[in-house]
Amino acid sequence: SHDVHVIGGGLAGSEAAWQLAQRGLTVRLSEMRGAGYGTPAHNTNGLAEMVCSNSFRSDDDTSNAVGLLHHEMRQCGSLVMQAAQEARVPAGSALAVDRDIFSAAVQSALESHGNITIVREHVEVLPSSGHTIVATGPLTSAALADHIGSRTGMDSLAFFDAIAPIVHRHSIDMEIAWVQSRWNKASGPQSEGQNGDYINCPLNEAEYRTFHQALVDGKKTEFKQWETDTPYFEGCMPIEVMAARGIDTLRYGPMKPVGLDDPRTGRWPYAVVQLRQDNRLGTLWNMVGFQTKLVWSAQTELFRTIPGLENAEFARLGGLHRNTFLNAPTLLDRQLRLKSAPHIRFAGQITGCEGYVESAAIGLAAGMMTACEHAGMSWQAPPATTAMGALLRHITGDADAANYQPMNINFGLFPAPEGKVRKKERKLAYTTRAKQDFLRWHGELPGSAAA
Ligand code: FAD
Repeated sequence: SHDVHVIGGGLAGSEAAWQLAQRGLTVRLSEMRGAGYGTPAHNTNGLAEMVCSNSFRSDDDTSNAVGLLHHEMRQCGSLVMQAAQEARVPAGSALAVDRDIFSAAVQSALESHGNITIVREHVEVLPSSGHTIVATGPLTSAALADHIGSRTGMDSLAFFDAIAPIVHRHSIDMEIAWVQSRWNKASGPQSEGQNGDYINCPLNEAEYRTFHQALVDGKKTEFKQWETDTPYFEGCMPIEVMAARGIDTLRYGPMKPVGLDDPRTGRWPYAVVQLRQDNRLGTLWNMVGFQTKLVWSAQTELFRTIPGLENAEFARLGGLHRNTFLNAPTLLDRQLRLKSAPHIRFAGQITGCEGYVESAAIGLAAGMMTACEHAGMSWQAPPATTAMGALLRHITGDADAANYQPMNINFGLFPAPEGKVRKKERKLAYTTRAKQDFLRWHGELPGSAAA
């Protein structure tokens, strides 16, 4: 027997289990991978597998909302942040990791925690009693998704997420491609001896135009009938969808050449394809922003027309997946509890937050809330001025329920800073206020909630 049942050992479930166990509660953590089940995006049986990008995005906690969320999670003893630090690879001001080292670090911390029992099992129905956290993610198994749908009386919403290809480093032609961070902003000591963290492949105008046309014409994965009205999430839009918006859309997006000096010409190219290190060994590099639903044969053919990638070998090609999430503002209370069955909390992407960091942060909050409830104490939500507070408020009621779409953390979710703040100082005003308010909130938490 256990105090809390956490279902799903992804980013959110792993973090929730850790937060509970650190507060002395016993946890059963159920994960279906490893029990003969899988998802269309996971490739391993490891806990907290990152299915697409290897980045937790910006680690800048002075001018970036996701960096601020990192900061707040670290203050709460986040396992995801701790493991990310152990697995970090160079990526400018971003917190990118070797995904295998990261997942192994999370798994080993959970396995060796005396309060956690990891059970490889597929959960098909919501438990009828006992503290439960459901963190089964955007690719929740069909059986459980159907059950949740029937229990909530709502069909799960869905949209599409795309993933980007990964290239073997040795197959990139470094006579053509070069290493440089945009404006030479590299990540510091780790990348000493280099000019930066990204591999850049240059395209001239003619090459770019041909490439653009081929993207627009390329054979795409066919949509099934039910998929045709499903919208894209803007942050993860397939490259060919962007291309279809106009000839220059890509040159102002993922193929932007500014701040990148081609050593062969000493000038910025017309367009560029950037690759970012994907594992610590530096053997795998992902094509930044190149998520796509082109069929695999079309991808290999087309991406090998990019200068420097003529002989590219792909460790993984791009793909597209469905994403399941609840109408959280309608169904959940302010503490992430299902209004109709309050022993059940939801956490992670299934609540309609978007992203690894956001999912883990909501997992962290769900763990803290459950611990508080278990101890019979009342929960004080983090202030709306903090990243965690703003995100929680959004998904548990402040969002427009009729048009609910998955949401990344961003300053638009925060109340505007008081008084007159110059535009240049606005972001700093948000983060400074958030840090003060978070510190105060965290300091005032009852003993066992703060842990
Ligand atoms: P997950 O990490 O998916 O964890 C859910 C876990 O529950 C899984 O391990 C799954 O096996 C398990 N599970 C599911 N059903 C059951 C069941 N019935 N019983 C037991 N276990 C079950 N975010 C980013 O920040 N960057 C990206 O590049 C990115 N790319 C994405 C690409 C794709 C294809 C998808 C689908 C999502 C992507 N996301 C990305 C969004 C999101 O951040 C991740 O999906 C993130 O992993 C969500 O965390 P989670 O804990 O909610 O779900």
